[in-house]
Amino acid sequence: MAENLIRLDIVTPAGLLMSENVAALNLPASMGSMGVLKNHAPLMTSLDIGIVKYIKDDKAHFLAVHGGFAEVKENVVIILADSAEKSGDIDVARAMAAQKRAEERLKQREADLDVLRAEMALRRAIIRIKVSQMS
Ligand code: ATP
Repeated sequence: MAENLIRLDIVTPAGLLMSENVAALNLPASMGSMGVLKNHAPLMTSLDIGIVKYIKDDKAHFLAVHGGFAEVKENVVIILADSAEKSGDIDVARAMAAQKRAEERLKQREADLDVLRAEMALRRAIIRIKVSQMS
C-alpha cells in the first residue's frame, strides 16, 4: 500500500460500496465520532447512524452510514454497514419523503406505532439529506 495511506473498505448487504486508499477518515462510532490516521491502534466498534468523512488527494468525501461495525487493523479499515450511500448517490427527494413520513408517524403516535423504528428512519433520512449537501 502507498505510504501514509489507509485502505478503507465499505461493505453493505448490497455488496462492496467502496475500497480506496485514503489519507485519513472519521467514523460515526457508537461512542462518538472517531478519527483514524495511519498506524492507528487496532480496534473494533459498532457504528451509529452518521457520517463517514475521508480525505483522498487533499479532498474531503462524505458518505451516509446507517449502523453496523468497523474494524481498524494494520492500516485497513473495514466498515460493515447496515446501509450506506456516497453523497452523490443519495436520492434527496426519497430522503425528504422518508423524513416527512417518519415525522408524521411520530406526531400522530398511533397506538401500534413502533416509536424506535420511526425515530431511526427519521435519523437516517436527516443524515442522508445532510450528506447530500456535503459533496
Ligand atoms: P426508505 O423509507 O426511503 O426506503 P430507509 O431508511 O427505510 O428509507 P434503508 O432500509 O436504510 O432505507 O435502505 C434500503 C436501501 O435503500 C439501501 O440500499 C439504502 O442504501 C437505499 N436507500 C435508502 N434511502 C436512500 C436514498 N435517499 N438515496 C439513495 N439510496 C437510498
